[in-house]
Amino acid sequence: MNETAYIALGSNLDNPQQQVLSAITALGALPETAIIAVSPWYRSTPMGPSDQPDYINGVAKLTTALSPHTLLKALQQIELSHHRVRKEHWGPRTLDLDILLYGNLTIEHPDLQVPHPGMAERNFVLRPLADIAPQLVLPNGIQLAELLEICPSEGIVRLSSGDIRGTTG
Ligand code: ATP
Ligand code: CA
Ligand code: CA
Ligand code: CA
Repeated sequence: MNETAYIALGSNLDNPQQQVLSAITALGALPETAIIAVSPWYRSTPMGPSDQPDYINGVAKLTTALSPHTLLKALQQIELSHHRVRKEHWGPRTLDLDILLYGNLTIEHPDLQVPHPGMAERNFVLRPLADIAPQLVLPNGIQLAELLEICPSEGIVRLSSGDIRGTTG
């Protein structure tokens, strides 16, 4: 059976705009998976170590027949194919793909927690998610709009579609 999944994309190395657009293509190419929507892109100041470039962030809505763990493994493969290197925690990376939500499931596994545990505090996740799913309600019954209202709004700028296609930043 197909489920709806929301994936957070982030990049701050090696032409981030190109990285996230290429990741969208790779997500669409996954088996038993199709892209339903892609959010506008945002530029955000980094979380964690501040001596790194700004991020490009966005969210994709998928429909997929892949299980949550199979989807996670597929996302990790896409990260690797984008030359993701694991160094310091929250350090700079070419591509980060996180499963925000998978259907209405709550998953508490050592390798996979859904909803993504950090999402409620991250405006660079909540904002693009709300752009494509304004009415969304989390598995715990909390509305996305409520989370967005209490989340600090500084540090992110929405890019116009011209910015994302036209620059090489
Ligand atoms: P954060 O998870 O706080 O955004 P991060 O994305 O930098 O930090 P990573 O180093 O990319 O963290 O991932 C660490 C581990 O998180 C992965 O190996 C994966 O098993 C685990 N993980 C747990 N839940 C999820 C999820 N919902 N989506 C993606 N990875 C997850
Ligand atoms: Ca596909
Ligand atoms: Ca992340
Ligand atoms: Ca991650």
